[in-house]
Amino acid sequence: MSLLGGGIVKGMAVTLRNFVGSYFNKERLVTNDYAWRPKEDAELPQSAGQYPKEEGEQLSDTTTVTNYSRNFPMLLHDGKEGDTPMDTVRCVACQICERECPPQCIYIEKMYDENGKYIKSPAKFDIDVSVCMSCQICVEVCPFDAIVMNSQFELSTPDRFGGLLLRRDDLLKSNDYYHQIHPGEAAARDQRMADEKAAKEAKKKAAAEAAKKKAAEKAKAEAEAKAKEAEAAQAEGAEEKSEPEGGDSKEATE
Ligand code: SF4
Ligand code: SF4
Repeated sequence: MSLLGGGIVKGMAVTLRNFVGSYFNKERLVTNDYAWRPKEDAELPQSAGQYPKEEGEQLSDTTTVTNYSRNFPMLLHDGKEGDTPMDTVRCVACQICERECPPQCIYIEKMYDENGKYIKSPAKFDIDVSVCMSCQICVEVCPFDAIVMNSQFELSTPDRFGGLLLRRDDLLKSNDYYHQIHPGEAAARDQRMADEKAAKEAKKKAAAEAAKKKAAEKAKAEAEAKAKEAEAAQAEGAEEKSEPEGGDSKEATE
């Protein structure tokens, strides 16, 4: 018969053994080393360092743990530093991600011009990261590669409500930044987008050529029909001319 609470005591004993042991054996500082790191993956850091100060990168804007880490979503734009991000934002405010987000933590408002015409851009795009569960479904469903996961984790704030509501301008990040934090994923996404664009252009070109060919065939058929009509009219005119004047030959003999 197991002792009530025996599992807790056992767990605490492991913790205590590691705590005391870590003073004598560095291997027991599991949070200080990526013990799970596959040996062949040279891209992963050897050590996480002493959080948060030891590794300078952890406090930089491109804060990242590994190439594979993800935290909350961000919105991509294709501008360079100094450009206005909204000029090249990829999001068209289609609201698919808003509908698909399981905890419903995305809020989008479409942008309209002064004549009330929808201009395919988000006027508002908020994500409540106090609710977001980092599931990445918004990334999977976006047809425009406009939303991807950021790896920034320094988001703690004493303002539990306003401070954790990320607004559109907080979420906007350049594609260059995406390449910095997730180089492999960003390159693969760029390649896929380029392939899709090329396939779309090839399809458009083929459709234009087919339309051109069809129009040429139609014009040829029309020209042939017109030529036939002209030929028939000419033959009719020649027949009329060959008939003698003043009626037919039978009447003349009578
Ligand atoms: S990561 Fe998941 S929970 Fe967070 S905004 Fe995207 S869909 Fe919603
Ligand atoms: S992020 Fe993608 S899915 Fe969401 S509104 Fe923008 S374009 Fe649509």
